[in-house]
Amino acid sequence: MPGEPATAPGHQPGSGRRILGGMSAAPTVDEQVALRLASLEQRYTPVRQALVATLAGAGRPLSIPEILESNVELPQSSAYRNITALIEAGVVRRVTGVDDHGRFELAEELAGHHHHLACGRCGKVEDVAPSPRLERAMAEAARAVAEEQGYEVTHHQFDLVGVCPSCRSTPV
Ligand SMILES: [Zn+2]
Ligand SMILES: [Zn+2]
Repeated sequence: MPGEPATAPGHQPGSGRRILGGMSAAPTVDEQVALRLASLEQRYTPVRQALVATLAGAGRPLSIPEILESNVELPQSSAYRNITALIEAGVVRRVTGVDDHGRFELAEELAGHHHHLACGRCGKVEDVAPSPRLERAMAEAARAVAEEQGYEVTHHQFDLVGVCPSCRSTPV
């Protein structure tokens, strides 16, 4: 196949690299979190570092009980207090699922753009990597709808609700 350029996905948040003093260095998640907290005169304490690492490694939004499972020494009140501080700093966001459990994940600026799949039976919420096809269709449809009401679209949130594989294989 002659000269066909590799097709790049539409947009990939977080893939941009900054050039600092001649060296190529993308700030790490920890560096970005530390900066955001510092701008509010808050410290990036070991508890907050553990919370961010837990959320970054989960690959899906976590409830407070799930966060506590992987941080056994962390008191529940401390988890709530520090998650709240991270939300105020724009580091963590609360994900609305299909049940009353609050679930938390890193903000998209840190974790990259994605969507969610929620199970209407067990309440589980999983991340979905955005496909270029979905993103294109979504952007076009959203723009058309929002423009009718005079809005300029800046971003979107889109969660799918269904029945997860393990609930599908279990009779109701
Ligand atoms: Zn389920
Ligand atoms: Zn999207």
